[in-house]
Parts: sequence; C-alpha cells; structure tokens
Amino acid sequence: MYNVDAPLACTHEFMLIAKAYAPPSLRPIPEGIAPELLERILLGVTTYLFECQTCHAHRHEMIVGSDRDTLEELMERTLQFGPQHVKNAQGEIFVVSKYLPPVKNPLELPMR
Ligand SMILES: [Zn+2]
Repeated sequence: MYNVDAPLACTHEFMLIAKAYAPPSLRPIPEGIAPELLERILLGVTTYLFECQTCHAHRHEMIVGSDRDTLEELMERTLQFGPQHVKNAQGEIFVVSKYLPPVKNPLELPMR
C-alpha cells in the first residue's frame, strides 16, 4: 500500500527489510560466460531489499559473495557438522568446536 499522505517528491528513508544469500552454484560452468556472471556463480550473491519508511518504495542492492564473515560461517558449520579442522600456511592444525562446560559428576557434589 502506498502512503497517500507522502509528499510527491519523497526524500526516501530506506530501511533494510529483507536479505537473501544465494550460495555458489555447484553445476559445471558454461563456456564463454560473462566475467561478472562467472563471479556470481563462483561466489554466490547476497541481495538486500530496502523499503522507504515514508512512501514504501522498494530498492534492491546486490553484492557478490556472502556478507557473513568466515568465523561466523565456521561456527555454524561446527554446530551442523561437529568440530572443524583449520590448517594455516605453516601447516599447523586448529580445531574449532563448540564449548561445552564440564559436567560435574553428581556423586562428587557436596552433601546438603
Ligand atoms: Zn520514499
């Protein structure tokens, strides 16, 4: 619905109302594809939808790739698939896993 009280020339106060991430395609890449399309296929695309708070006009913006950082993704993978192993350039391996506080043995609890 459009706001009938909004001035004709709205100055637009856009607010983010939706965000969607399309992950990279796993299908074989077609030959002779345009470079900007290749980028989107390899990295995925994040789309943002904005709505003007006054006149409810919509605007969308797109970025190549995900706007989520690597650590955030790593933590999510840990919840989904268990501990994740990460190797640095020196070949050292790190394990990232969810921290579970140690459970006290109920027999060791002090008597009341
Ligand atoms: Zn507006």
